Amino acid sequence: MSASGSQIVDGASSSEVSPKDQARYDHYRIYNVQFDNEQQIELFQKLEAESDSLTFIGHAREVGQKLSILVAAHRVADFADLLATYKVQHRVLTYNFQEKIDRNMREVLPEHVDVSKYDWQHFFHLKTIYDWLDHMASKYPEQISVLDMGSSTQGNAIKGLQLGKNPANKAIFIESGIHAREWIAPATATYIINELLTSQDERVQQLANNYNWIIFPCVNPDGYRYTFEHDRMWRKNRQLFGTCRGVDLNRNYPDHWNTTGSSSDPTRYDFAGPSAGSELETQRLMSFIREHVEKDQIKTYIALHSYSQMLMFPYGYTKEHVANYDDLQEFGKKAAAAIKAESGRDYVSGNLYETIYPSSGGSMDWAHAEAGIPISYTFELRGPPDSQDLFILPAVEIQPTASEAFTAIRTIVEAAAEKNYYK
Ligand SMILES: [Zn+2]
Repeated sequence: MSASGSQIVDGASSSEVSPKDQARYDHYRIYNVQFDNEQQIELFQKLEAESDSLTFIGHAREVGQKLSILVAAHRVADFADLLATYKVQHRVLTYNFQEKIDRNMREVLPEHVDVSKYDWQHFFHLKTIYDWLDHMASKYPEQISVLDMGSSTQGNAIKGLQLGKNPANKAIFIESGIHAREWIAPATATYIINELLTSQDERVQQLANNYNWIIFPCVNPDGYRYTFEHDRMWRKNRQLFGTCRGVDLNRNYPDHWNTTGSSSDPTRYDFAGPSAGSELETQRLMSFIREHVEKDQIKTYIALHSYSQMLMFPYGYTKEHVANYDDLQEFGKKAAAAIKAESGRDYVSGNLYETIYPSSGGSMDWAHAEAGIPISYTFELRGPPDSQDLFILPAVEIQPTASEAFTAIRTIVEAAAEKNYYK
């Protein structure tokens, strides 16, 4: 290629000369702000609505609330000036977010790595996760069936496993990776699969023997792939809406759809979609649950997310209590205590509306209210609410995070069994 001038190519250009089409976050800062008065809340609500250079992790809602915001490099001076002008309490958690991403990308093994290299010290591409599922199914044919919900918007499979085939057992369903950038969720799902098959711990073996497990590590495969190839911070699916893409699949379920804590604007991170249940990924999961909830007696639904260290139950759209609120509250508190005993980490438990923030159209609300699954939780895994890493959890934390999540699930299932939920 000549040294002078650039060559115009349709779409893709030569990888030798052009950098990859990847979003970068050089010198982006993470601020953690705390609101002392209504004026500050209004200011930040306005800021969020006006700017796509500020990535809010949640919305400004109430006095005393703390909120993390990823601030684009070109807005740092302007943002810092606003904080000073309006005397907003704050801390800078991270000065260069790209460094976190670079470090994280070095913890990913190559896409075509042999499945014998699959572990919980690295992060893995979608293809590797799926190869590993197939590998486990061929290694344990008596215990495992491979499941496929059908393809995603962009034609990727939504693959999972069923572990345990005893028709007398009740089933536990684990949904993971609905938000693309929350990489710890698929890693935790595969950890749980591996533990159920290989652990020598008697309590884990009991769980494997007494329940059938249906586990889908990556229910948003298009988004997950996009985080590896183009933008580590992508959250939604990849459905096209004119000039922008993506529905927040965890706002798309037809249960009080788009009533609170979601957006009707396709450019927003919590876009609920053009209509309730509009997305193929949502429809795939709903049909799977409808087909299996009675047949396989699914009594427990766990959705894995990050971050904030929370164990939450329905509802997300209202602070009204579900019928078995007291039980879910008790199981959640027991699970948080079990995590504290295992790793010393603080997890809080409560209904989603009051624990993290109001949101509607979530899969957990639908699973509980519409599909009738009594024990339903959404876990926010590590790190803590004021995490410096946001969704970029270091790989060294995969194993302990997945282990404490599994401990929480075991605690919830054992406590629910005592109350006859699986009779
Ligand atoms: Zn999430």
